[in-house]
Amino acid sequence: MYRNAALAVFIFLATVSCKKQDIVQEQKQQQLTEANIDSGNEISGRKSDSRSGVVLTFDDRSVDEWYDLHKSIAPAYQWKATFFVSLFSTLSAEKIRKLRNLQNFGHEIAGHGLNHIDAVQYIKENGAQSYIQNEITPMLRLMRVNGLRVVDFAYPYGSRDESTDELLLKYFQVLRGTTYSDNVDEVKNLGCYYKFNQVRVVDGLGIDDIYKNPLSYIKSVLRYAKENNKIVILYAHQPVPLAGVDQYQTSYSTIEEICKYVVQNKMKFYSMQDLYALK
Ligand SMILES: [Zn+2]
Repeated sequence: MYRNAALAVFIFLATVSCKKQDIVQEQKQQQLTEANIDSGNEISGRKSDSRSGVVLTFDDRSVDEWYDLHKSIAPAYQWKATFFVSLFSTLSAEKIRKLRNLQNFGHEIAGHGLNHIDAVQYIKENGAQSYIQNEITPMLRLMRVNGLRVVDFAYPYGSRDESTDELLLKYFQVLRGTTYSDNVDEVKNLGCYYKFNQVRVVDGLGIDDIYKNPLSYIKSVLRYAKENNKIVILYAHQPVPLAGVDQYQTSYSTIEEICKYVVQNKMKFYSMQDLYALK
């Protein structure tokens, strides 16, 4: 009787153990299958030594929406972004705290002008010294005193020229302008690629709904960067679950698809200040 009971316990434990092994085996198999699917999606090009990637940037002052985006998408893809902040003096203490938290999570907080002024036009009318005194130094002082390590700048309206670049490169590491896909036949002609050539002025391609760059087009830009070992600079304003038509808004799904593409193709996420550090 006692022996039978011991035998039954042994059989029971063996069965449980086998089942456990089966489950572990199944999970491993599933991981392998998923890995194969991923590598099946992987496009040709250099893999292990490729430094291709993307700089995701967001402009203006949608701090709450940026923070919500960070909470909902960043953990899954381990992405980082650069947030170019304008009108900093109008932000509440709570929003400034959120910016500091974003910085602590590995995102970059950068400058976009104290009053979001058109640099070229303002300097033409008021001079370079006035522009720096009113738009740049107070912004840097305010942001830095609030614990934000600002080293980069995005031009409001993408308005820049050689003289504004020369002026602002005294205050910032990297400047970002804008590029548009209108009349561009091939993605290689776009100006939104960093080519590891130590330039300190780069252009971003808009992904908000208003720029009318469909996801398939954005993916072809990413694909070109992957195949040619370049970094794509993208910019948006307000991330929302579903972007309104012709708005300066980007749907979560667009950002998520970009993140998926980067991860599946073993590309990297860069911040703007990473570009300056690249050799
Ligand atoms: Zn702006």
